[in-house]
Amino acid sequence: RVALRSFLDRRWPEPQPRTGRSRLLVLAGPTAVGKGTVAAQIRRTHPEILLSVSATTRAPRPGEVDGEHYYFVDDAEFDRMIAAGELLEWATVHNRHRYGTPRAPIQAALAEGRTVLLEIDLQGARQVRAAAPDATLVFLLPPSWDELVDRLVGRGTEDAEERTRRLRTARVELASQGEFDYHVVNDTVERAADEVASLAR
Ligand code: 5GP
Repeated sequence: RVALRSFLDRRWPEPQPRTGRSRLLVLAGPTAVGKGTVAAQIRRTHPEILLSVSATTRAPRPGEVDGEHYYFVDDAEFDRMIAAGELLEWATVHNRHRYGTPRAPIQAALAEGRTVLLEIDLQGARQVRAAAPDATLVFLLPPSWDELVDRLVGRGTEDAEERTRRLRTARVELASQGEFDYHVVNDTVERAADEVASLAR
């Protein structure tokens, strides 16, 4: 825990624009760090960046629109997409539902010189690295370990066992940050979103 804290509290250098890395940006990070919020902010403030729409087998939540937040598909359709090679990567997330990134829209946007942002889990980020070694991998960090604990347990909806499980997962996820090209601290959503978008220049 102490080693982890010092790793988290390390000052990362200011990010330089990518060198030798493509406009395929992957945003990953530990559970509850706020990836979805940062991605939504980028969608609002940087419309030139294509936010990839994933396919998922989970059911829509209230307010979620098919084709906008996700492509909501059943298991048979997801199997078909895998078999047809339509997904750049896919993973079972939180041991439950499958999520995957459709390949075609990304290829089209990259061919036009646009930047593409994927907000996906760690397993997915590793697959993108393997499939596209020049992808730009960005790891979103909490401002501190205590902040992440607060965000994970703050809602007070999980019991002690579930909290312990999530914190263990977060620790494992944080340990993977060395695999990433850039580290962005999610201190405020606006600043973190601008920093991520700046990596696309
Ligand atoms: P949610 O169900 O809350 O929308 O998303 C749950 C998790 O799935 C998030 O951590 C998100 O990053 C991840 N996720 C969403 N889309 C994809 C995808 O296409 N591929 C992978 N590997 N993970 C995804």
